[in-house]
Amino acid sequence: MAIYTCGHTTPDSDSICSAISLSYLLNKIGRDATPARQGEVNPETQFILDKFGFEAPELKTEFAGCELFITDYSDRGQAPKDLDQATVVGIVDHHKLGDITTSTPLECWIRPVGCTNTIVKEMYDFHKVEIPANIAGIMMCAILSDTVIFKSPTCTDTDIKAVRELASIAGIEDFGAVGMEMFKVKSAVEGVPATELILRDYKPFDMHGSKVGIGQLEVIDLALFDNVKADLQVELDNLRQKEGLHTAALLLTDIMKEGSEVLVSSEDTSIFEKAFDCKLEDGKVWIDGCLSRKKQIIPFLEPAFA
Ligand code: MG
Ligand code: MG
Ligand code: MG
Repeated sequence: MAIYTCGHTTPDSDSICSAISLSYLLNKIGRDATPARQGEVNPETQFILDKFGFEAPELKTEFAGCELFITDYSDRGQAPKDLDQATVVGIVDHHKLGDITTSTPLECWIRPVGCTNTIVKEMYDFHKVEIPANIAGIMMCAILSDTVIFKSPTCTDTDIKAVRELASIAGIEDFGAVGMEMFKVKSAVEGVPATELILRDYKPFDMHGSKVGIGQLEVIDLALFDNVKADLQVELDNLRQKEGLHTAALLLTDIMKEGSEVLVSSEDTSIFEKAFDCKLEDGKVWIDGCLSRKKQIIPFLEPAFA
């Protein structure tokens, strides 16, 4: 039986590229594997796949009866709905430990680095498997995306070393330029419906019994949102109502100014204000230096719900 390698719902570049890179590795070490994805491919990921000549992995949302090697998450909220009927054979991830449990022993590669593909690179090294140039290319791009070209506080020396090695394998001299090209693709928000923008890189969380949803858009200039910000706030309210969320937030991250404007829709905005020691004005606030949802938002917001 083939193992499916698959990342989180609303997949980002790391989820899609790690499904592909991990599946190749598993096949090389004699385990039959197929990459899959739980949702649509975003424009940044499409750019990466096109650049290195890959098709998107198979779209798959039901895994009952399948073996599953999870990449880039360990939260049930980001898993397929029928996860309990699947056999989780492994997890490779770089987030806080989530609430997925298993009934059989599994292989876990979980480390506090900037990207799942950095850990997959270590798995290749561990198994002494050579990385093909095109796979190295997508792994490199995923790391540059997750670490915001090394600017994110989640970035470690291990990620930088991995990008250097992967760039050399992929034959790319100026990986910084490829990174900027990628973020320019990501910055094309003009004309995209507000709901689609909110859900483009969106994660649901259970924070001490309260449902919280947080989206993030990383762009090269916050002014790109000037015309859509009002729509985004309306749609954030709608999403909160529709999904029964306590709080819905959207991080508008300016990767050049290195900070985020956070739009907040909440049953009780004082929870957010307390968590970040701030005052929301018209439902939003600029948080200087904030680039990472994982490291600079979740660890502060979650305890505020306790
Ligand atoms: Mg991810
Ligand atoms: Mg990731
Ligand atoms: Mg990200």
